[in-house]
Amino acid sequence: MKAAVLYGPGDVRVEEVDEPEPMPGEVVVRVLATGICPTDLRKFTGARKIERPLILGHEVAGVVHEVGEGVQDIAKGDRVAVYPFLYCGQCHYCLRGRVNLCTRLGALGAAAELGQVYPGSFAEYIRIPSRNVYRVGGAVSMEEAALAEPLSACLNGNLSCGIGLGSTVAVIGAGPIGLMHILLARAAGASLVIASDLMEHRREKALEVGADFALNPLEVDVVKEVKRLTDGVGVDAVIVAVGGKAEAKCTEDALKMVAKTGVVNIFAGTWPTTLMQIDPNTIHYAEVKLTGSYLSTPEHFKKALNLITTGRIKLKNIISHIMPLDQIEKAFNIALSREALKVEIKP
Ligand SMILES: [Zn+2]
Ligand SMILES: [Zn+2]
Repeated sequence: MKAAVLYGPGDVRVEEVDEPEPMPGEVVVRVLATGICPTDLRKFTGARKIERPLILGHEVAGVVHEVGEGVQDIAKGDRVAVYPFLYCGQCHYCLRGRVNLCTRLGALGAAAELGQVYPGSFAEYIRIPSRNVYRVGGAVSMEEAALAEPLSACLNGNLSCGIGLGSTVAVIGAGPIGLMHILLARAAGASLVIASDLMEHRREKALEVGADFALNPLEVDVVKEVKRLTDGVGVDAVIVAVGGKAEAKCTEDALKMVAKTGVVNIFAGTWPTTLMQIDPNTIHYAEVKLTGSYLSTPEHFKKALNLITTGRIKLKNIISHIMPLDQIEKAFNIALSREALKVEIKP
């Protein structure tokens, strides 16, 4: 089969590799759509070192091609979305149901590397334990179903902020992840959703998917504007989905625009490590909660997939590019340019 193998920074080659065969309890899935995630891009650029050649990719939907010994609930021909994380089921966190924090967390496409790593989905076929695949009902496209994983991570963040009917929310960063946060906040019943992004096309998209306001931080003081739009109170929840170095500075700002008793969620990783300054009094006297969320559990995944398949959350118009596997290098570069929104590969 064809697969995109990453050998080192900027060196991705589409080549012939052996087609996977299912081990007992596993299935082989024909990949029909797979998203490019910032995690993949960090490895492509070399910001995150890889120790050996890797097939990346972990946001995936497709059709079951083969089932291994002992697999009962999933059959050949089923349309499925894949929960890409592999957890031990026995550690401190797994026993509490927080399998996303498993001390031996592994993943498809090296999206987590403490435990097992399975070759990823930038390939025609993947193999994966059958408990990681979820049947996709309805008429939803494979391109949208492939985004159940990033949406599930956003759902984890949304729930950790307690966003519900009448909540006021600010989403800092309106890339694909920020846009998903806007969609979820709206679906959860938020009465006010304010987005902020440096790029005009992303601000436009934020308004299109349901934000009430989309602020340009180069033109307005976002903290002041959020305060102004909430009669000086601030918002109930701020989700910081910028990533990179800017995550730190944006979190400092978030703590200045959150209402008393509100929640600030550090959703994205900070690369390279960057410190931030917090006045503890702003948290103490305002009873503000500063939290993080990382990946998702199978429960989040199933709920996210249901939101997609029922059409409650529509992701179609945040996918800006769908490209063939042969053009993966170009696709990585487009995704890096930030001119794009979600970039997907159709192997
Ligand atoms: Zn991802
Ligand atoms: Zn575990």
